[in-house]
Amino acid sequence: MTNRLYYTEPSCRRFDAIVTRAFDHAGRPAVTLDRTAFYPSSGGQPFDTGRLGGIDVVDTVDGGDDVIHVLATPLASGTAVSGEIDWTRRFDHMQQHTGQHILSGAFETLFDNLTVGFHMGAEVSTIDLARGPSPADIERAVDESNRIVWEDRPVAIRFVSKAEAASLSLRKEPAREGTLRLIDISGFDLCACGGTHVDRTGAIGLIAVQAVEKMRGGSRVTFVCGSRALRALRTYRDVVAGSVRALSVLPAELPAAIERLQDESKELRKQLKGVHEKLAEDTGARLAAAAPEVEGVRVVVEALEGWDIAGLKALAAAAIASARACVVLVTSGQPVSLVVACSPDVPVDANVVLQQLTHRFGGRGGGKPGLAQGGGLAAPATEVASAAWTLLETMLAL
Ligand SMILES: [Zn+2]
Repeated sequence: MTNRLYYTEPSCRRFDAIVTRAFDHAGRPAVTLDRTAFYPSSGGQPFDTGRLGGIDVVDTVDGGDDVIHVLATPLASGTAVSGEIDWTRRFDHMQQHTGQHILSGAFETLFDNLTVGFHMGAEVSTIDLARGPSPADIERAVDESNRIVWEDRPVAIRFVSKAEAASLSLRKEPAREGTLRLIDISGFDLCACGGTHVDRTGAIGLIAVQAVEKMRGGSRVTFVCGSRALRALRTYRDVVAGSVRALSVLPAELPAAIERLQDESKELRKQLKGVHEKLAEDTGARLAAAAPEVEGVRVVVEALEGWDIAGLKALAAAAIASARACVVLVTSGQPVSLVVACSPDVPVDANVVLQQLTHRFGGRGGGKPGLAQGGGLAAPATEVASAAWTLLETMLAL
């Protein structure tokens, strides 16, 4: 059974130990020790990393009686080793974990809003609250939490029996039996927990809530403490500075400036649409006017570059509106897309023309006698255009 040094001495970062067992854990070399300062993932707090006998500890797992240290390379059983945990990583976890106890304590003390879940991620941590707090409640809980931080209260570890625990007012009902380990934030919060904590609240520095979202009847509060709060502040500073530079406004003017840009872009899109429509109208009429006549019908067959299918449709519609015409417009890319349009008084069915072309060149499409569109034709645009021309000539001559 591993003696877990972090239970009583969370500030211990170096220690000596003996390897009690060497084995394979999920395909990776692992050892147990007679004593360890390495914290295994549990209770929402991630595992410690570090070095053991000069070998990297890449994962620490709670194996029940023993703590399992997963190593980069194997270590032999019976070896005397010195261990060192990655203190930057661990201290960060301690700041977040004690910060979580305080934030959860504040929501419970002020609003009787219980914490039902805790997760510490690599960037941010979350607590799940039983109910959804109002924005004002969140600010009050954050203010209260930071008051506790700045009062630099002692954080003590106490061991009590389950019976003793029953007489204490713990923040939440402990799930486990036997001796309980309590984290006592002096005069503020008492909670059963196996995690590692700072020894005074001042070490947390700052507790900041970043987001609150509704979930399953309650809410999820995303927060950062200590060095993470400083990192978040730096990120916000850089984002704001970049945005302020790009928009030439003061930070406080950013939301309004972005709204203004969105309005402008909406207006420009509207104007551009109008220009496109006018361009299609003019080009369509010009194509019809310049097209040769067959049996008194203008026959417009063109392979066009730079128009999408919607543009071709607008063009074709403009052409048949401006003259008695049959129109086949083909895109220049591969595979070919096309639009077929016929004026109402022309004895040609646009859909029939399209079906004949897709029958010959592949692809698919459909439409009405006046307007049809298709795509996926596997032939060069000029070949499709030339076939369309012959087809229209034949149909009009009938
Ligand atoms: Zn805890």
